[in-house]
Amino acid sequence: MKNFKHYFLLGVSLLGLNWSSVQAADFPNKDRQITLIVPFAAGGPTDRVARDLSESLRKHLGVPVVVENDAGGPGGLIGASKLLRAAPDGYTLMVHHIAMGIFPSLVKNLPFKVDTDFEYLGMINDVPMTLIGKPQLPANNYKELKAWVLQNKGQVNMANAGLASASQLCGMLWQATIQVDMATVPYKGTAPAMTDLIGGQVDLLCDQTTSTTSQIEGKKVKAFGVTTLKRLATPALKDLPTLDEQGEKGFNVTIWHGLYGPKGMPADVALKINNALKSSLKDPEFIKKQEGLGAVVITDKRSDPAEHKRFVLSEVTRWAPVIKSAAIYAD
Ligand code: ASP
Repeated sequence: MKNFKHYFLLGVSLLGLNWSSVQAADFPNKDRQITLIVPFAAGGPTDRVARDLSESLRKHLGVPVVVENDAGGPGGLIGASKLLRAAPDGYTLMVHHIAMGIFPSLVKNLPFKVDTDFEYLGMINDVPMTLIGKPQLPANNYKELKAWVLQNKGQVNMANAGLASASQLCGMLWQATIQVDMATVPYKGTAPAMTDLIGGQVDLLCDQTTSTTSQIEGKKVKAFGVTTLKRLATPALKDLPTLDEQGEKGFNVTIWHGLYGPKGMPADVALKINNALKSSLKDPEFIKKQEGLGAVVITDKRSDPAEHKRFVLSEVTRWAPVIKSAAIYAD
């Protein structure tokens, strides 16, 4: 075997090929698996998207695609940093969300650059959020919630998935909108936050519909509004009013997910992964699962790596002044 590899590599170099182009031709090797890093806890919205996607990618790439939860750090920094330490060979990828667009504004001393350190492999979906509360809350609609929060200033808290998370962004924007400062309770993802919300240990949470839909449907939490300008089509959420129509004019937050690799992947490997992703975005089973949870699978050009990157950078520009004016800062 050793000899075979030696002569094979010698042949490769005599033919003027380089090792990475050989690896690319071989990708994905049937004896290997692809690891999909999720920088948040299992059972949360990012994990949910990644698990649905991994099943679909497996069909298109023909090798196992295994989700690994590397939770922790602001905006999933631990998982993102792990991705950047991995070999750029296509076998370690990451599903991440809007943190890529808010990291630069929210996290000082970010140990990487979102524009140059990642391989952009295409966007996956857009996901609205919902403002939800523990079942024991006395309020039954948004008007009552706001009145209760204003009466109990200083005692109400809000859970989130840590600094630079989608839930932090939404929660802080909402607090800035209603001009109430609340204590925030950070978790390593919104799955553990949801468990505590259902148990009544925390009061409020703003989280993606991919994890809140079933809890709202099952009446495990109280729902007060959706964060998009339009109501949602998902049957379980179609009667839930937007925050905008309930008086918070212009309140509009949509979370998105994309697929990333470490910088330096061979172009052929990146192309094969992007092609597999595009097939998944047309996979009826994947679409059905995502739509059932209120997510909108990408059908526009943001499934292209260059457009994905352009979009993320436009989000960095879009959120910077919003974050600054809402005075959401952290070290
Ligand atoms: N929804 C989380 C957030 O607030 C992340 C997660 O657990 O997927 O960013």
